[in-house]
Amino acid sequence: MTTVKGRPIEEWISEFPDLGPIIHCAPFYWSNPYAVESKKALQGQPLQLEDIQDAEARLKRFAPFISKAYPETENAGGIIESPLKKGDHIKARLETITGQKIPGAFYIKLDSHLPISGSIKARGGIYEVLKHAETLLQEHHLLSEKDDYSKLTEETYRKFFSQYTILVGSTGNLGLSIGVISAKLGFHVIVHMSADAKQWKKDLLRERGVQVVEHPSDYSKAVEQGRKEAENDPKSYFVDDENSTDLFLGYTVAAIRLKKQLEEQAIQVSPEKPLHVYLPCGVGGGPGGVAFGLKVIFGDAVKCYFAEPTHSPCMLIGMMTRLHNEVSVHDFGLDNQTAADGLAVGRASGFVGKVMEPLLEGIYTVSDEQMFRFIAEMVDAEGIHLEPSAVTGLMGPSYVVQNDPEITEEDTHLIWATGGSMVPDKIKEATYQKGVRYKADPDKG
Ligand SMILES: *Cc1c(COP(=O)(O)O)cnc(C)c1O
Repeated sequence: MTTVKGRPIEEWISEFPDLGPIIHCAPFYWSNPYAVESKKALQGQPLQLEDIQDAEARLKRFAPFISKAYPETENAGGIIESPLKKGDHIKARLETITGQKIPGAFYIKLDSHLPISGSIKARGGIYEVLKHAETLLQEHHLLSEKDDYSKLTEETYRKFFSQYTILVGSTGNLGLSIGVISAKLGFHVIVHMSADAKQWKKDLLRERGVQVVEHPSDYSKAVEQGRKEAENDPKSYFVDDENSTDLFLGYTVAAIRLKKQLEEQAIQVSPEKPLHVYLPCGVGGGPGGVAFGLKVIFGDAVKCYFAEPTHSPCMLIGMMTRLHNEVSVHDFGLDNQTAADGLAVGRASGFVGKVMEPLLEGIYTVSDEQMFRFIAEMVDAEGIHLEPSAVTGLMGPSYVVQNDPEITEEDTHLIWATGGSMVPDKIKEATYQKGVRYKADPDKG
């Protein structure tokens, strides 16, 4: 008999009946029974508002460097940020498809179009490498916080960084972000890619001088390998997607930026006019960091939901059973096979799972068929191409409206669209065509 932590699966299902449909890959909405008032949930957390502000200040110090190294960020003053866009057309499509009216305003946060690496990983990944670079230079008395950081584009600094190695394990997008920024600064960088990683991501990294190591197995193994290599070399630094607080803090800064964008667009957020945020979740750092930052800033006026593939619901199973990173989706017989490469993670971050357990409103799962269909729907309705991981947010509002009778026209829904602008045109077209086929045949959607 298959057991998990010494107990038969049947016993887990009788304690947590929702596990039944989830381990049979049925799309599912889980309302988190462990959520408490945000004030209470935020007390005693290891990270606080000051830490988020410190991360934001660091990104500001680096802005002159980013602006010079990446001319596409010059207009934004070297701040890596994405647009907040209204999504009325896709909202109307969602209502037609699900037959469920969605009261409230509907917006899309286009992290798919973040400069430099075209995914949410441009927040956490780039932040952590910048922080590491700053720390190294400060340790060698080569940089003061008052300096103009644009000097880091000079050859002397590139030469300094070339003595150091940065390592990371990734399903694709984290490797892309870490690889691109590290290579730009002059670091030697090694990216361990899992089997899910797309060929074009590996090709792009190699073009930029990044060493890519391919693994036949999944993400956890790629991470393990990176971690092991770094342990034996004091000049190596491992970016730990499962446990890094720096990575997490890089994501939290999104909350400060979003607050400003909401104000600019006169979108009110208050306990009477809540903001519902739908975040695709892999290991948890990206959505966890954004959600945590939002809870710190808006408290209970913001409601956060994670989206996961039906074949990789690691955060859902970990949080529901409270086993967190002690359990993987494989333990419950799931295969972790999904087209959503950014979310193809079998074991969630224990650190993020525990931080979010009292803060998150819910988690839902999305099938690959639904993802492809919604890739086509987004192109047709809004003219935006997203990758499979990034459309999973879209399925959230219908679930949430069904489960929460208090939602009114005063509420706002925000879909966090986490990646897609850098997908090569040929692949975009093929993915779109596949989605169109699902769209035409509802049985497949
Ligand atoms: C990585 C990724 C996510 C999720 O971030 P995690 O930190 O792994 O939870 C979501 N969408 C895309 C496109 C990603 O690449």
